[in-house]
Amino acid sequence: MIKSPYFTEEHYLFKESLRSFFQKEINPHLKSWEKQKAIPKSAWKKLGDMGYLGICHEEEYGGLNADMFSNVIFNEELSRTLNSGFAIAIAVHVYMATNHISKAGNKSQKEKYLRPAIAGEKIACLGMSEPQVGSDVKNLKTYAEDKGDHFLVNGSKIFITNGIYADFMTLCCNTDEGISLLIVDLDNKGVTRNALEKIGWHSSDTAEIFLEDVKVPKENLIGNKGKGFYYLSESLQMERLVLAMNSIGLMDGVWELTIQYMNEREAFGKPISKMQALRHRMADIKSELEAVRQLIYHTAWQIEHGIFAVNACSMCKLLSAELHKKFVDECLQMFGGYGYMEEYPIAQIYRDARCAPIIGGTSEIMREIISKMSIDGQEFKKVY
Ligand SMILES: Cc1cc2nc3c(=O)[nH]c(=O)nc-3n(C[C@H](O)[C@H](O)[C@H](O)COP(=O)(O)OP(=O)(O)OC[C@H]3O[C@@H](n4cnc5c(N)ncnc54)[C@H](O)[C@@H]3O)c2cc1C
Repeated sequence: MIKSPYFTEEHYLFKESLRSFFQKEINPHLKSWEKQKAIPKSAWKKLGDMGYLGICHEEEYGGLNADMFSNVIFNEELSRTLNSGFAIAIAVHVYMATNHISKAGNKSQKEKYLRPAIAGEKIACLGMSEPQVGSDVKNLKTYAEDKGDHFLVNGSKIFITNGIYADFMTLCCNTDEGISLLIVDLDNKGVTRNALEKIGWHSSDTAEIFLEDVKVPKENLIGNKGKGFYYLSESLQMERLVLAMNSIGLMDGVWELTIQYMNEREAFGKPISKMQALRHRMADIKSELEAVRQLIYHTAWQIEHGIFAVNACSMCKLLSAELHKKFVDECLQMFGGYGYMEEYPIAQIYRDARCAPIIGGTSEIMREIISKMSIDGQEFKKVY
């Protein structure tokens, strides 16, 4: 194996220990979680006990405060489980829902929500998308009315990962001052949730959440009122990079699975891995994977060095998600008819892959950002 200059010996040791944790504690159960359409609380607790749910959060609250390339490894290994439903549930909890509390929350919010989330005792979700508003985040309709000592929230959220089993939601909503972020306990009066049926990602639960006259205490406002859009815009960069890391980890795993099958499966008296037509298709996608990987690592390096790499993060998300979809499709072809059978993991991976260019900002939105920055010269400024 050629070692990457971005990783130290400690990183490789971390990778080994993570992989053996997943192989022992997670992988044997993924099939049943896919069927149950849920990840049991005990699995969250196991991840919490290892500190993984706080990998990028402060040590003071039980996190690991790990460097960027440990986060790269964590996300790659999450996806090496080959179950994107599981991987996204964890990634949303760590990088999309609790990260706002970690970055802009106050001490008591961190004690009440971040600490138990890192420990795996509370599950978090992020409520951004709405039935009428997805990509156009500035136009959120969910409204939090300032009632003096509390907010009164009305509206609805859709496609919310972890939405059914989460204990609290980082809610993105409108206030008189603009978009704000509130922590909403999901057992509050006025909250109802519906499970949504999806094509794939079955092990992660996805919900539509209705908020009707929900009282949210003033102390649950994250950061400043009206600053939510800036917080979101900033954290979306890491979110997109995390999704890109997940895609390359997934592709690495699918590569191994496919090559193993191609070596074992024979046709016309030889393993199909010896057939030039197939080898060349695999060589093409492997080359694209290595190119995207280098862009992702370089972007991770930029973020680690304090560079607000909005354009690069958007490129990582766009290229990795589109390749993820194509890569899995190409690999499935190598399995012939077996690839279309539920008994073979590639079938579930294929279903899951379709979501990559949709979540965390669609490919079209990534192209919009890249065009604005590369063609119009638009710039985005850091908030934190
Ligand atoms: C399984 C799953 C899990 C999800 N989890 C979460 C979650 O945890 N929390 C959360 O808040 N959201 C979540 N989402 C929502 C996801 O982020 C949105 O689906 C996504 O942002 C797109 O929004 P939309 O579905 O409303 O599509 P729309 O915004 O309605 O877009 C429809 C189509 O138009 C295109 N489009 C829109 N605007 C433009 C434009 N300016 N230029 C060109 N094309 C454009 C889009 O790319 C898309 O192809 C999840 C979605 C899925 C499917």
